[in-house]
Amino acid sequence: MPYKVLILVCGIIGYTGNKKASKVVLKGLMTLEYRGYDSAGIVTLDPKIRIQKNVGKINQIDFDMEKLPGNVGIGHTRWATHGGVTKENCHPHISNNGKIAVVHNGIIENYQELRTFLEAKGFVFNTQTDTEVIPNLIEMYMKENDFLDAVKKSIKMLEGSYALAIVCEGLEKVIAVRKDSPLVVGVGDEEFFVASDVPAFIEHTKKVIYLHENDLVIINKKLKIFNLKEDREVERPVHNIDWDMEQAKKGNFEHFMLKEIAEQTESIKKSLRNNTKEIERVSWMINDARKVYLIGCGSSYHACLSASYKFSSLAKKHLDVVLASEFSNYRDLIEQDSLVIAVSQSGETADILEAVKSAKEKGAKVVSIVNVTGSSLTRESDELLMMNSGPEISVLSTKTYTSQLVVLTLLAYATAGRYDEGKAKIKDLINYVYYITSANARDYIRKLSEKIKDSEHIYLIGRGLQYPTALEAALKIKEVSYIHAEGFAGGELKHGAIAMIEKGTPCIVFTSDLTEKEMVGNASELKARGAYIIGIGPRNNDLFDFFIKVMQADEANSICQIIPIQILAYQLALLRGCDPDRPRNLAKSVTVK
Ligand code: GLU
Repeated sequence: MPYKVLILVCGIIGYTGNKKASKVVLKGLMTLEYRGYDSAGIVTLDPKIRIQKNVGKINQIDFDMEKLPGNVGIGHTRWATHGGVTKENCHPHISNNGKIAVVHNGIIENYQELRTFLEAKGFVFNTQTDTEVIPNLIEMYMKENDFLDAVKKSIKMLEGSYALAIVCEGLEKVIAVRKDSPLVVGVGDEEFFVASDVPAFIEHTKKVIYLHENDLVIINKKLKIFNLKEDREVERPVHNIDWDMEQAKKGNFEHFMLKEIAEQTESIKKSLRNNTKEIERVSWMINDARKVYLIGCGSSYHACLSASYKFSSLAKKHLDVVLASEFSNYRDLIEQDSLVIAVSQSGETADILEAVKSAKEKGAKVVSIVNVTGSSLTRESDELLMMNSGPEISVLSTKTYTSQLVVLTLLAYATAGRYDEGKAKIKDLINYVYYITSANARDYIRKLSEKIKDSEHIYLIGRGLQYPTALEAALKIKEVSYIHAEGFAGGELKHGAIAMIEKGTPCIVFTSDLTEKEMVGNASELKARGAYIIGIGPRNNDLFDFFIKVMQADEANSICQIIPIQILAYQLALLRGCDPDRPRNLAKSVTVK
């Protein structure tokens, strides 16, 4: 059954313990805000239901904590899918009798039928959301069932994707359940948490349970987990998180995006550190497979494309790069001796999960390259290569993109039987990455951002390995500064894009030792049409109006060449008054098919 919709974008949290629930929930929501940020709300039990919610960013909403007493609570930051951004539509949603409150991440696809069904039974709806059917279904079933059974029966009625946290007046517990939306449990000292992501409670505990599909958890003084599909109580392992709150905080940086860009010396080192054995095993799988597909979405797709050049030049292997959302078109070609390498930061991307499931149905092997431990993709894979970038909070991928490149580059070298050489090459980059992310280099790049901040279009070109870099660089600029940016292969310029060049149009030209001659040729064609040329590469040239030096690093080149543009995109966003951590219409790991 294909995944139809998976929404990862809002944040939910639930708490039971000895602390003041509203405080824990509010702090948790603040750390989850990158997931959705149009409105927020909290319910606590004392044991009566108390609710506060409103539209706006979480730090702009004036929660009156005095009016939210109790040690049990749930909260939500919303990224609206059904119903406008209004106070009524904010979560939590309450049942008609005022006794059941629900927060929901996802989409209930059959909500209209359920609404009609409930209306016929006399229920009244006060919002336009898909979520409001859930508390009312539970109310209906509670006429003849206890809370848990009523929740189970209601869940059976739902189609779509959901991570839910539910409370009922008078009962000191939270019930939470997930299907196609993420949900983790934090196990503390006489306290428990459920949340969309670990940062929401990492300040309280580092012990985490990653729930599986269709798991339902009850937290009060104890913790119980059921799997609704298997219809039985289950045990799930408790993992210890090896990063702390400091890493999920902004520290001295103004934005997560900048912090994560600056962290790349560390994240690249971490991505290099592990994986030696696994990389070797995967390289054998690549050599054994008759056909290898590399699949990803967005930045991960660009990392795959970049990798395909490396496999070709180093290991003399052709890997098919396919957008995960387009993978179904290749389904008939998948065979038992095919290998699918799936790349995803979150490991929850719907398009990827669907592609992987269909490949497995055809008997293919699956390798995943993932950052989030315990995510759905990690459970679907025959082999797993962790990116080890640490938590990435900013919506834009920066450090996880370079980590993906590190893992894929190592893999290409390993497949060619040159693992140690690959590792040494990437190690050599670290000093450069340190330099290019330094305050001095950032100041230098700011001069460029000031020059081009009012441009309507920016064009980026590269050949070979620099072509995927041009695509990724264009994506970064678009996502965060909203300037139209497009990446091209240098050779394609004359086949269309050059028509767009006017006097002063900024054109970013990526060069390398291998492509310099042709790229300088392209730069001169652009210059002749009045373009403002920004050169990025190992050597300056008279044609360049602005130059950013990037060390020459052969197959590892793409890891360092993207970084100046990550910085440029960040600075363009600031100069244009855009919030880099909250780009409009985007959210981390949005995966709506
Ligand atoms: N579908 C729900 C709504 O629009 C939840 C969206 C979300 O995941 O934030 O309210």
